[in-house]
Amino acid sequence: MEVSVDRALCYGSAECAHRAPDVFAFEDGYGVVRPAAVRAVGDPRIREAVLEAAEKCPSQAIALRELREPAAAPGERTGGPGERDVTRAPE
Ligand code: SF4
Repeated sequence: MEVSVDRALCYGSAECAHRAPDVFAFEDGYGVVRPAAVRAVGDPRIREAVLEAAEKCPSQAIALRELREPAAAPGERTGGPGERDVTRAPE
């Protein structure tokens, strides 16, 4: 999930930093996304706090965007648990 704050909309209530402090901080009178937030949002507990922060933001300044895994090209290895190498003939 990609998280961003539109500074033009934010009016500095600091609610996001209180609801999800692992992801948001309050700096210079605005809510900001912490640099390490991308990794933190992978935690379901933190993700839930971010969703709530976005929902409760009084100025609707928080934008959330789901990131999708890029689709693998035919024959490309994905590294996933079900992966098999299709370039080698069975023995
Ligand atoms: S909750 Fe919304 S308005 Fe308040 S600081 Fe965060 S982004 Fe800005």
